[in-house]
Amino acid sequence: MPSSFDYIITGAGCAGLSLLMRLLQEPNLQQKKILVIDKNTKKSNDRTWCFWESGTGLFEPIVHHRWQQLRFVAPETDRTFSIAPFQYKMIRGIDFYDYVHSHSASYNNVHFLQATVKHWRNTAQGVVVETDKGVFSATFMFNSIVHATQLPPPGFKGYFLWQHFKGKIIQTTTPVFDAEKATFMDFTVSQHNGTTFMYVLPFTANTALVEYTLFTEQLLAPESYDAAIDDYMLEKYGIDPTYEVLHEEFGKIPMTNYHFQARDGNIIPIGIAGGQAKGSSGYAFYFIQQQTEAIVNSLLVFGEPKKQGITLQQQKFRWFDKVLLRVLQEQLLPGHEVFAAIFKQNTPATILRFLNNESSLREDLQIMRSVPMRVFLPAALHTALFRK
Ligand SMILES: Cc1cc2nc3c(=O)[nH]c(=O)nc-3n(C[C@H](O)[C@H](O)[C@H](O)COP(=O)(O)OP(=O)(O)OC[C@H]3O[C@@H](n4cnc5c(N)ncnc54)[C@H](O)[C@@H]3O)c2cc1C
Repeated sequence: MPSSFDYIITGAGCAGLSLLMRLLQEPNLQQKKILVIDKNTKKSNDRTWCFWESGTGLFEPIVHHRWQQLRFVAPETDRTFSIAPFQYKMIRGIDFYDYVHSHSASYNNVHFLQATVKHWRNTAQGVVVETDKGVFSATFMFNSIVHATQLPPPGFKGYFLWQHFKGKIIQTTTPVFDAEKATFMDFTVSQHNGTTFMYVLPFTANTALVEYTLFTEQLLAPESYDAAIDDYMLEKYGIDPTYEVLHEEFGKIPMTNYHFQARDGNIIPIGIAGGQAKGSSGYAFYFIQQQTEAIVNSLLVFGEPKKQGITLQQQKFRWFDKVLLRVLQEQLLPGHEVFAAIFKQNTPATILRFLNNESSLREDLQIMRSVPMRVFLPAALHTALFRK
């Protein structure tokens, strides 16, 4: 294995492998010497990603399941809607890792190393990355390893919640799920801990991914997530906790208005480390695709990953995220009331475009009109005037 490369990608997860896949699509970049480092083998299905898009994406061949209808449930609201022109798509982590590994196998300029990255630093020539299996250099490093220095520092004055969840693929003996509909949010669960909902993605009448999700400052004790799923299965589907569990996953994603560093010399943070989780929803897969596509475009045009300026459109969505985070974190209104107001009064396509930071000004105004002004107007003014 050489010790010097054009690009080192640290972390072979969603962002690292999305970037690699996109580099290999480009005739002018696919011959670059690339080293991809991860401490894990990435041979297990450690997570599932869902996102929505209207066309076909780079990872279309590995979409595991897709839904055309979403259901939203809150006290006194139960709405199922077609999401055309979007589809809600699911990709399994293991399919994603295998797909990118097998695609890159034919490129002998791409090297994978299973190692723990210890340090990285800028040098006059580029970057140096120290691992437990050696020291490597490159012109650019694309880093998806979240280091403490990348997260909001202690005393951060802005908003910060964890989106945390436990998901289980449950197999029942009796047919109880409607495989046509994905339940995007079901708020008819206890809100005792803060904004809390269930997320149910059925594959067949007998199998579904059921995920207990919270937007709160503190995580729960591990057994609380299991108990909540058991209660939900019993109450909503009459299934006792002897159901079979085919897969389990746990996640915690930062939801914050903190501005993650875009580039430090020749080190470019990508993925969660690069602030690609949407502040008010925690969705990241779609934004990671956009970030890695922008990096590749910049490499093609300028020969380097130029620091992207923040567009007016991005500033607008950052502000919206901040206002919503303020409402949720300060508990100015229960989260389920906020989302119920939005889902009752807007078309699904408008909501999904809004959540993907792609809505027009007219659609933004529609969404704003649908939320309680007595709460959101002061929150909007507060976030515009004060740092927090
Ligand atoms: C269980 C789960 C489900 C999720 N579901 C969704 C979803 O449905 N939709 C959505 O939009 N987002 C979802 N997310 C959020 C987000 O899309 C994922 O977290 C995504 O994997 C982030 O990509 P990433 O590349 O930033 O981080 P990761 O995919 O976590 O990749 C980082 C990599 O760095 C490696 N690494 C860490 N430290 C070191 C080290 N010191 N040395 C070497 N390697 C190291 C890790 O092994 C890992 O492979 C989910 C997150 C989780 C945890």
